[in-house]
Amino acid sequence: MLTVMKFGGTSVGSIEALERVANIVVGTEGNKVVVTSAMSGITNFLVACCEDLVNLREETIEVFEKKHVCVAKAMLDEKQLAEFMKEFTPRMEAFKALLYDEKAAKSPYYQDNVTSQGERFSSLLLSHKLRAMGYKSVALTSEDCGIVAEGKPLNGNANLRMTETQMGINVMPYINRGYIPIITGFYGVTKDDWIPLTFGRGGSDYAAAVVANAMNADMLEIWTDVDGFMSADPRVVPNAVKIDEMSYAEAAELAYFGAKVLHPRTIEPVRKKHIPLKVRNSFKPQEDGTLISRFREYRNELLRSVATKTDLSIISISSPEIAYRPDIVSKILNKISENDDAIYSISTSLSTVAFLIHNNDVKNTLIKLNELDNDDVEKIDVTSDVALICCVGDELMSETGASGDIFGAVKAAGANINMISEGASNVAINFVVSNGDALPVIKILHRKFVEGES
Ligand code: ADP
Ligand code: ASP
Ligand code: MG
Repeated sequence: MLTVMKFGGTSVGSIEALERVANIVVGTEGNKVVVTSAMSGITNFLVACCEDLVNLREETIEVFEKKHVCVAKAMLDEKQLAEFMKEFTPRMEAFKALLYDEKAAKSPYYQDNVTSQGERFSSLLLSHKLRAMGYKSVALTSEDCGIVAEGKPLNGNANLRMTETQMGINVMPYINRGYIPIITGFYGVTKDDWIPLTFGRGGSDYAAAVVANAMNADMLEIWTDVDGFMSADPRVVPNAVKIDEMSYAEAAELAYFGAKVLHPRTIEPVRKKHIPLKVRNSFKPQEDGTLISRFREYRNELLRSVATKTDLSIISISSPEIAYRPDIVSKILNKISENDDAIYSISTSLSTVAFLIHNNDVKNTLIKLNELDNDDVEKIDVTSDVALICCVGDELMSETGASGDIFGAVKAAGANINMISEGASNVAINFVVSNGDALPVIKILHRKFVEGES
């Protein structure tokens, strides 16, 4: 039995939290591979440093060094601390050199490199804590493991095939010798020059799913600061309830459309190999959390969970001939895909095709669309600052009147629906409202269909 266990920022964010996590790890049966985030707050701090490197690098080095050494001193005795410092010092020296490396600063992947530093130190702390408890453990970076990534800076994707080969060579021997490897989350390395490339904010969940895929794990556990995958973001809906079981499809839709508890692309690497995933609370290890797998029991719940992704824009392209000329749709799609940006929804009518993209991607998308032939495109309209609401439930599509009930509630919240995507997935109904309407709509849907208040 091999379990990949991922611990998020708050789960490794303090001495007490690290101690709790160490106990969870050693209390888990069978072989374990751990993937960890940076201590909470550290990645934000590194992002800020990148934005004003010249003024902030001194302070960054000082605060960063102090924070990790303080925690190590509190957890380790003198001899153990000396062992820790043997690994800490070269990592710290490399980090300092990076902040002063003018050549590296010109690389498009520089920010990836700087922001990936937090994981290198939290993993070291946890590994030494386990060693201090008498277990064999090794701290491995994504470079050591060979987690191979490709794609744009700050938004990498793993190359699953190459990563599996590399991890078989670099990590498996440790497992076979009884070690608990503690691996950096958040980033992989480019295949040609082994430069850090991050998987986007919150990317340690995805990194852990990639590791689970590569190691052919029997289980992936995502340990976080809430009881599991919930019916809504508990910060927005305090009455949100934990969901016991979900299918991959349900979790994937919600994560992709804004449920921050999982990075948007976490499900794919585990779904490919049918590896079950559990979301658990590291502050309440006795609780079972949420099981996400291929199968789940039918519960006949109209609405199980709702999520929202804000700051999106609808781009509507009108052309009188769209319905009769599918080649126009394909030309438009090709143009938009040249930028490699995420498209959250597409809908077509007789004479328009509408796309949902992030506000930040509008400018570059319009540049591409303006390259299209004037005969093919009559006009382009942009509606910015909208939010996609993703509703996941049992047979939302087949239940008579289910979507009618949902849209009725949206109307009751006084919101207008700008775009609907219904029927494309059999577990979700997605629709678009203005940014400002998103939270009232989420709250009313939750109250009516999850809490059952009429
Ligand atoms: P970690 O640092 O462990 O990765 P995150 O902050 O990235 O933790 O994700 C956990 C947070 O996600 C929770 O504290 C919660 O506020 C938020 N969240 C948003 N939607 C959901 C949901 N549907 N279920 C559970 N948590 C959610
Ligand atoms: N430390 C990274 C972040 O804050 C990755 C993660 O926590 O998942 O985005
Ligand atoms: Mg997270």
